[in-house]
Amino acid sequence: MTARTLDGQALAKTMQEEIRPEVAAFTAQHGRPPGLGIVLVGDNPASEVYVRNKLKAGADIGFRADLERLPVSATVSETLALVERLNRSDSHDGILVQSPLPKAMGVGAEQRVFDAIAPEKDVDGLTPVNVGRLVQKRAILVACTPSGIIELLDREKIPIAGRHAVVIGRSDIVGKPMALLLLHRDATVTVCHSRTPDLADICRQADLLVAAVGRPGLVTKRFVKPGAAVVDVGMNKVTDAAVAESLFSEGHPRLALFRSRGSVLVGDVHPEVAAVAGALTPVPGGVGPLTITMLMKNTLRAAKARAGKPVG
Ligand code: NAP
Repeated sequence: MTARTLDGQALAKTMQEEIRPEVAAFTAQHGRPPGLGIVLVGDNPASEVYVRNKLKAGADIGFRADLERLPVSATVSETLALVERLNRSDSHDGILVQSPLPKAMGVGAEQRVFDAIAPEKDVDGLTPVNVGRLVQKRAILVACTPSGIIELLDREKIPIAGRHAVVIGRSDIVGKPMALLLLHRDATVTVCHSRTPDLADICRQADLLVAAVGRPGLVTKRFVKPGAAVVDVGMNKVTDAAVAESLFSEGHPRLALFRSRGSVLVGDVHPEVAAVAGALTPVPGGVGPLTITMLMKNTLRAAKARAGKPVG
């Protein structure tokens, strides 16, 4: 069996075209586009790439997308003041603080800054109010990656209700909200993490397996029930030749890419899983593009909610 590819890139394009006229209608009615403020502190290279992609996607669809930068030396107070300014801004409906904040800000800085975002502008769904609403199944703004995954599963007609879903990872941004969304859709959900014994055995029971770990190729064939749907959230930049060679056989185009560039982007799911799974998201081109699209969808939802309109 070769797994059906769940093409997140294609779905992201479709969804962006669906959002575009809604953005235009909002702009026409309110005399301004829905606005997103992205806070970037420091110069983490990966964050620079993520932020650039978010700004580009926003501008392409017709949003106002502003980058608010602070130097790596910025204090928590300065970052909080910036968030407060965006909270008060009439032209910004969504606020995203790019994680991670510089280590020098100290332990707990990220939590303090996220907590300061006005819940109605919290397009990453990270504030306690929005997490609480998610737990109670009445969320308006939900973390972008897991909500993009639900959208992908629905549009690909992969059943959720009554299925056993296993989520590897329990972060606030992916694993936990993913587990809750699957639970709300009537899956029986098991959440695994770094202290889970017999991880492969548990995963092999899954009809639907979501890997959100950050370990290249952790999920091998042994983890996957034949025919299961597998969602690979991991985005890992591999720079070690031995790791690249353990993932891709000689002659594989991704190995050639690694050898020419010195790095390759891989997921948490080993490529060999394609021979066992029924459906699989690729990396790149799976979950990543959907995360950005859901950010735009959330910004539009936030804009509509602030304007007193039904958010759909
Ligand atoms: P995270 O905060 O580091 O969480 C990783 C989770 O994996 C933790 O719960 C950890 O367990 C668990 N874990 C670590 N090693 C494990 C192991 N050997 N066996 C089982 N569980 C293990 O990471 P994250 O923010 O959730 O992100 C996870 C991955 O998704 C990363 O590669 C990230 O780059 C990627 N990501 C992609 C997108 C996208 O748009 N495609 C969006 C967000 C994140 P403990 O809790 O016990 O430590």
